[in-house]
Amino acid sequence: MHRATRSLVPMLFAFATPALCQNLDDVQIQTLQLTDGVYMLIGQGGNIGLSVGEDGVFIIDDQFAPLTDKILAAIAEITSESVRFVFNTHWHGDHTGGNENLGRAGGLIVAHENVRERMSVEQVLRRIGRPVSTTQASPDVALPVITFAEEVTFHINGDDLHAFHVANAHTDGDAIVHFVGANVVHMGDTFFRDRFPFIDTASGGSIDGIIAAAGAALAVMDEDTQVIPGHGALSGREDVRTYRDALKTMRDAVAELMEQGMSLEQIQAARPIRAQAAMWNQSEASEEGFIATIHYGLGGR
Ligand SMILES: [Zn+2]
Ligand SMILES: [Zn+2]
Repeated sequence: MHRATRSLVPMLFAFATPALCQNLDDVQIQTLQLTDGVYMLIGQGGNIGLSVGEDGVFIIDDQFAPLTDKILAAIAEITSESVRFVFNTHWHGDHTGGNENLGRAGGLIVAHENVRERMSVEQVLRRIGRPVSTTQASPDVALPVITFAEEVTFHINGDDLHAFHVANAHTDGDAIVHFVGANVVHMGDTFFRDRFPFIDTASGGSIDGIIAAAGAALAVMDEDTQVIPGHGALSGREDVRTYRDALKTMRDAVAELMEQGMSLEQIQAARPIRAQAAMWNQSEASEEGFIATIHYGLGGR
């Protein structure tokens, strides 16, 4: 079923979806209504955002291809309208796996221009320079047909959905979607709730970019904003602020030790991000991995 990927893919998404190795047949799609016409769907892979109304269904991210029928069934419980727009927050397969099915069904796929570029050719995922998995090029029908460089706004279902690019954050093609009227923000994988984020450095992601992305998202939020993370539970502004501040603290702690001339191994041994690892209940291996990601993002090799 995982036509678009081969070999080591469970390792790639082990970060984002620890239970991917379980049969996708067992996955249930959970529907949360956030406000009139706005929903969050939780299944396996990146969280889905929906705008539903008389102009049709606008879906943000579409998880894995084998889940498309279940996702469409969940949408059919909400509305009789069909999927008109498919928006991808970035290229990763746990957010774009349903593109081929939805594209064939007539959905218009929209994403940042680097999403189309990366999906058009084979991608080798690396962790700090080390190859981890390969994703094959997607068929044409799965590619975004409308791309943008900085921002795009959809005037549908009585709301303005403003999607804006944040540079070199989780990847080089991330977009955050702000439902202006509904006061909902879908952050894609620029926000992993209650854990170290995965930063795809081989796709142009960086620690400074992901901190800046959280800042850009915070700038459009107020105390009532509902936030859909790429992975994790529905959140609010304070959750994003805590996350952003923790990232900044960790970045600065690693940078300081780098300035003192310490090697990556010495920095890892000094455990400068131990408090954040404890806050998010992360393993020591994850802690070392995230230090390596920060170190790499700050130019360490
Ligand atoms: Zn993801
Ligand atoms: Zn991702």
